[in-house]
This record gives sequence, structure tokens and C-alpha cells, in this order.
Amino acid sequence: MFFTQTSSIDSKKLDIPEARSTDILVFKEENKIVVKKLDKETLTIGRSSDDDVLLRSKGVSRCHATVYFSEGATWIIDGDLKGRVSTNGLFVNGAKVSVYRLNQYDVISFQRGVYALFLSQKSCSGTVNYLEEAIQNLAYFIAGKNAEGIPIDQLSLLDQSTQATVLNAERAPLIDSLTRLPNREAFFTRVQKSLEFRNKILSDYNFAVLFIDVDRFKMINDSLGHLVGDDFLIRLARRLSRCLREGDMVARLGGDEFAILLDDLRSFSEAIDIAKRLQQSVSKPLDVAPHELYPSVSVGIALSSLGYQTVEEIIRDADTAMYHAKNTGRSRFVVFDTEMHQKATNLLRLDSDLRRAIDKRQLELYYQPIVSLADKKLIGFEALLRWNHPDNGLIGPDTFVPMAEEANLIYQIGQWVLDEACLQLSQWKANPAIKDSLSVNVNISSKQLTESRLVDRLLATVRRHDISPDALHLEVTESILMENTVQSLRLLSQLKQAGFKLGIDDFGTGYSSLSYLNRFPVDILKVDRSFISQIDKSGKNTSVNITNSIITLAHSLGVKVVAEGIEGLYHLAWLQQQKCDYGQGFLFSKPLTAEDATRFAEKGLDWTWKC
Ligand code: C2E
Ligand code: MG
Ligand code: MG
Repeated sequence: MFFTQTSSIDSKKLDIPEARSTDILVFKEENKIVVKKLDKETLTIGRSSDDDVLLRSKGVSRCHATVYFSEGATWIIDGDLKGRVSTNGLFVNGAKVSVYRLNQYDVISFQRGVYALFLSQKSCSGTVNYLEEAIQNLAYFIAGKNAEGIPIDQLSLLDQSTQATVLNAERAPLIDSLTRLPNREAFFTRVQKSLEFRNKILSDYNFAVLFIDVDRFKMINDSLGHLVGDDFLIRLARRLSRCLREGDMVARLGGDEFAILLDDLRSFSEAIDIAKRLQQSVSKPLDVAPHELYPSVSVGIALSSLGYQTVEEIIRDADTAMYHAKNTGRSRFVVFDTEMHQKATNLLRLDSDLRRAIDKRQLELYYQPIVSLADKKLIGFEALLRWNHPDNGLIGPDTFVPMAEEANLIYQIGQWVLDEACLQLSQWKANPAIKDSLSVNVNISSKQLTESRLVDRLLATVRRHDISPDALHLEVTESILMENTVQSLRLLSQLKQAGFKLGIDDFGTGYSSLSYLNRFPVDILKVDRSFISQIDKSGKNTSVNITNSIITLAHSLGVKVVAEGIEGLYHLAWLQQQKCDYGQGFLFSKPLTAEDATRFAEKGLDWTWKC
């Protein structure tokens, strides 16, 4: 709860302005309708008997809630201004609150029973509707209903037009129809209240927003169907609800995204504890007959202590933290911090800069030589993208390619890369000083692979630059293949038929089973740098065995192997021994500008000084 015996509201901070004499409180007291002018009073609300609500200016035997004015707004708190907490709880629009800024048409109720009735849309009594002063002469009115759900006739106290407004007022639906949890709108409103209370009334009040995303939900939906997906979400919603304390709110924001407001935290470690509990509870096997699912969620946490001003900001940061959780292995939680904030702001700026990068000619391709290990001859280059940012200098693809994918800029950028790489290759082909016929490797992002006219576009590109498709090697990462095997297989077969060479990049880092390899029409396997870097001078460690098996298997399938990240002569020696076909790495050369790469190709590979 918000109030404890030791923490009380500082009435100076509250700065309660005088109540306007035009504000009128209409309430029901012991079966009488009472009209009362608000005159310099803070009101306390109590419950006398059954479900009747008593609103009194003073001296309620047991104070249930307090209404007061501050900063031009009307607040309601669950308890009194001395810091005593009510035990029954206070509900606004069906959600339990400890402190709340009232809005027009908010429905306030006081009892668990009333709350349950309210949610099931049956009759309820003991609720108070709050109306803004915009409706003349009316601050509150009691929407008490009798046991049959018939409203008590207190509306006759209002003038005709107000009656009409009240009766016709449609409340926006605040409940998510699938899970019956509060929806996005209800959640945003709730966070807004908490922010306002913290910023305007009590800076010691702390809360947290948790952004929750189900891991691999798409897989459940796609493979088991939407009905199972819906059932899964409903049951997950129940599990999430069970982890919360009184006063917290869980909502479904849409799709497989949920959010939680952790109210009135004593310390932020409390938020961490709840997040842990939540993940434990969620990850128990879920029986969605006839399947047993093992759900997991990624959670991002944003804490109110960062001084947020708007709901969008705090939810955005919780979302950013959730992305970090996803990107660093899923099924975990990450707390948003200022460093992340800085990063997120930079990324946001980079994102808008990236949109202009092509037009402003800020993108550039670097080329890293690929060498045949047996005779140390240059066979081609891998094209690696760089961004010459006017303020931040040279930015590597690991930073901005994911951004480009997310912003759907990757198609345009990918096409630019292809054109540039093919143009370069045609220039090398025409260069009399370059004897070898070279190939160029281009990295293709997973998003590009989903483009329906990819094969046609690639063919048009090589034709435009008059190069043969087999001089263009397309590198895709193995995880792409594993995620959607049937579709990938079809696409790769089409690419192969069109004459392109296909390579699997970063092999060994994904989930692929070696046995998958013979199903895909690939020409080249690139063994990830992480395996090569573990080969030590003695040539003994586990990755040596893995690398060895990859080479043997690839060769048995007629697939060539490129080792990435060759940095030392002992890497080279060992790989030569294993009959690895090609290599790439700083030992031969770092990625070079087009000009330096041309010089490199003209001279041929001269590295006798290294032997
Ligand atoms: P990748 O395709 O695996 O590229 C190899 C990366 O390893 C390059 O990093 C390269 O500079 C680095 N590298 C090469 N040899 C060595 C070595 O001996 N030691 C070490 N420590 N590193 C080495 P880079 O250029 O930062 O590229 C990173 C990744 O970005 C690439 O990994 C590729 O997946 C992606 N990428 C690069 N260009 C493009 C592009 O045009 N389109 C797309 N979609 N992705 C790209
Ligand atoms: Mg690559
Ligand atoms: Mg690679």
C-alpha cells in the first residue's frame, strides 16, 4: 500500500487550494440524498453499512478514502492524510489504486465485492461517479444502484442538460476482450496518474513499469494456430496477474505484449524480486492440450526514479530495456539505466540520420581479401558496409544494420550495397593489372530474403554491371535457414538456379544441425571467427574438433570452407593441415577501402615477410 504508519503526506507539499464554492458534492447518506457545497474542505469517505457510501466532510467513524484538491486537480487516496491506510481498498474503473487523480466519468468503488460486480457488468452499489466541474454545478454524484441494478434517482438533482450528458456518457472500453485484463488505454491512464502524483505531490513515491514480451510467440501462433495462441495468452495473463501485489496493475498492450505497473515500491530491489518471481511463475510448463509449452518472457523495467515527465517516455524506456533482454538471450529481465538511455537517444538520432545516409553518400564499402589457403592466392573480397557519419565518424555494420532492418531501410541499403559491389567487381574485371578473376561476397540480411522479387532484382543488378552471377557470392547467416526451412530452401534453390553462389556465414553460431547442410544447396561455409580464435599454438581444444568436423562434413557434401578471423600464422598452419579451402582475416588484411583493395589486387598477395 502507499501509506505506512511512518510515512505521511506532507500537507505543505499538498498545497491544497481552497475548494471552489461552485463545486457541489452530491452523495447518499443513510438513504438520504445530501447536497453539499465544497467549502475549504478536504473530504473523507467512509462506508457505514452494507454497500452504502458515506461521504462526509469530517468525523467519519472509519475513514475509507480521502478526496482533496491540489494543483487544480481532484485526487482521491486510499486512506487519510495522516498516512493511515484503508484496509478495504479503493478501486477506480476496476483497478485497485492507492492514489489517483480523478477524471470525468471515473467510477470509484470501495469493496472487493463491488469490484467483482462492476467487472461483470451486473448491478453494483456503493460507487461514486466523478464528473469534472465543466459540468456546471456538479462535482460528484453518486451512481448508487439498488440490488436489481436500478440507479437511485439522484439524477433529478441535476439540471436537464447535465442529466442528458451523464446518461449518454459512453465510457471508453478499458478491458482487453481476450484476456479480460485492462487494456493499453487503461494502463496509460494509470501510469499517468502515478507520474503526476510523483511529480506534483509526493516525490518519495516510487513505482516501476515492466514491459513484457513473450519469447517466440510467433512460433506458437504459426505452428499451433491462433486458437492455441489465444489460449496461451489467456493463461499467461492469469499467471502474470497472480504474481502481483495489491495495487499493482497488469495490462495487455496488444499482441503478445503485456505491461505491469508496480505501485508504491519501498525499494527498487522489490521490483527486481517481483520480476524474478514473475519469470519463475511464467516459465512453468503450460498444458495447452495436446501440447506442452514452455513459455518464457523477456522483461524490461523502467524505474520512476529517472524522473520521467510523460507516460510515453517511461513506457518507451521499459520497452528499450525489454529489447536488451531479448537481444541478450531472452527469458530474462533488464533494468533500464541512464547509459541505455543515452544509447537509445543516440540510436534514435542515428535512425533519422540513416534515412538520409544514402542520398548524402555517407555509405561506403570496404573490401576484405579472401585467400585460397593452399596456394595463398587472392580469390576475391568480402564487401563490408561502413557508414561515414558526419559527427560520429566511421560506424560499423553491427551498429546500424539492425537499425536499418528495423526501420525497413535495409532493402534500399541492401540494393545500394549490391550495386556498389557489382560496379567495383566490373572495374576490377576491366583492370588489366589484375590478373586473377575475382569474386565478391555480399552479406544479405534476413529481411532482404523475404523480399518477393529478390531473385529478379539480383539478376537485374548483375546484368546492369555486366558480371556473371557466379562471381557474386551471397552470404546469409545460418539462423535464417533454421528459422524457416521450407521457404529458405525454395528461395536458395531459385538463387542457385539463377547462377549465384551461396554461402552460409558465421557457421557454428546458430542452432543448425550439421545434418541440415545437405538439404540446402550451398556452395560455401564460413566457419565463424569464434572457433578459429580458439585454435591455440598446440592445436588442441574443443573448437578444434568442431572446426575439423565442419570441414570434413562440408567436403563430403562438396561444399567449400572459408575460415573467418585468421589472425595468426598458427591458425593458418593448422587450417592448411585440415585442408580448409579459403581464409579471411587480419593476417592477410583488414577490410580495405576500394582504392586500397584495388592496389592489393593489382599487387597480388605478397606476405613473404610473414613467413
Ligand atoms: P561478417 O559477414 O561475418 O563479416 C566479418 C566481420 O569480421 C567483419 O566485421 C570483419 O571486419 C571482421 N573480421 C574479419 N577478419 C577478422 C579478424 O581476423 N579478426 C577480427 N577480430 N575480426 C575480423 P564488420 O565489417 O564489422 O562486419 C560485421 C558484420 O556486419 C558482418 O559479419 C556482416 O554480418 C554484417 N555486414 C557487413 N556488411 C554488411 C552488408 O552490406 N549488409 C548486411 N546485411 N550485413 C553486413
Ligand atoms: Mg559475411
Ligand atoms: Mg561472418
